[in-house]
Amino acid sequence: MKSTVLVTGGAGFIGSHLCERLLADGQDVLCVDNFYTGSKDNIRHLLDNPCFELIRHDVVLPLYVEVDQIYNLACAASPVQYQSDPVGTTKTSVMGAINMLGLARRKRARILQASTSEVYGDPLQHPQPETYWGHVNPIGARACYDEGKRCAETLFFDYHRQWNVDIRVIRIFNTYGPRLHRNDGRVVSNFIVQALRGEPITLFGDGQQTRSFCYVDDLIDGMVGMMDQDTEIGPINIGNPAECTIRELAETILRLTDSKSELVQHPLPIDDPVRRKPQIDKAETALGWSPKVTLEDGLGETIAYFRHLLSK
Ligand code: NAD
Ligand code: UDP
Ligand code: UDP
Repeated sequence: MKSTVLVTGGAGFIGSHLCERLLADGQDVLCVDNFYTGSKDNIRHLLDNPCFELIRHDVVLPLYVEVDQIYNLACAASPVQYQSDPVGTTKTSVMGAINMLGLARRKRARILQASTSEVYGDPLQHPQPETYWGHVNPIGARACYDEGKRCAETLFFDYHRQWNVDIRVIRIFNTYGPRLHRNDGRVVSNFIVQALRGEPITLFGDGQQTRSFCYVDDLIDGMVGMMDQDTEIGPINIGNPAECTIRELAETILRLTDSKSELVQHPLPIDDPVRRKPQIDKAETALGWSPKVTLEDGLGETIAYFRHLLSK
């Protein structure tokens, strides 16, 4: 049956891919965004679709609309961006969650929260299973994001226990792909843009810290799969367990772009997590989901996107 699906943060990197996917699945999509880090450019190709509607709105404020499902993605995800207005970041996560949960409660709509591997902080357990409670500095530079997202998870589970709201919570690990913002400071977009321009690659620290990168199409499959099943509410890790060091990532991007850029070391940002890798047994069992796209293939698509963007 055709549903009306609200996507908050729908003009962002992940949100725009999700809107596209939901439209392709035959849903009516209501995209809500305040364009803090997102852009109309990401959804311009959807604006003429009669099943797509855009509202400029800040989720910190109440929103009264008629919808059947909610994907709550509104929140800057790049450390540079979420730290540029830390109070705004916490407000978005916490007040945004309250408002969207209030909406879900009123409409009896299922609501999915885009949570994050950052709830594990700088993890002491490796790889990270959903049962790990995390290791987060509550007063550090990343806290506005980490604690905001942790509080949002608390709200989701309390709305579920107290008001029986139908929740889904996924913890997203580093995701990349076309429509990453070219200068939002995240590592994949930074390195690709630097490599294509022949500029120095900004390696923070010695580059031995690790991340596990998931291609956006795989993430969207996991996200929609989580929303569209009736038994598992989460939290559930969605990410690619293929772990690599940031130095290896830089070297792979240099090779794939055939770039002569040099690696230049910069100070490691404060509280930068040392290692990160999802344990995904739960997603495999409960959703039958696992990532399909290799890092090289995904980077190939992403590099092609940035090549085109930079040539304009
Ligand atoms: P993004 O910055 O590209 O997208 C976020 C979107 O939310 C933007 O369009 C922005 O304008 C919008 N937004 C921000 N504050 C808002 C507000 N107060 N009201 C309305 N809209 C607002 O980031 P992304 O990578 O697409 O991330 C989307 C979601 O996924 C975020 O919630 C993020 O925390 C989560 N996530 C992303 C990753 C990742 O690696 N990309 C990892 C973990 C979690
Ligand atoms: N809310 C909203 N849209 C709705 C319903 C509620 O934005 O359709 C907001 C409402 O403004 C409130 C928040 O969600 O601030 C939480 O709503 P809830 O019903 O849980 O609590 P209460 O109204 O008692 O604060
Ligand atoms: N990083 C880097 N150079 C950059 C941007 C990021 O070396 O230009 C590192 C950063 O220190 C971190 C990793 O790459 O260890 C991932 O950073 P990002 O900001 O993409 O996401 P995070 O996982 O830290 O939220």
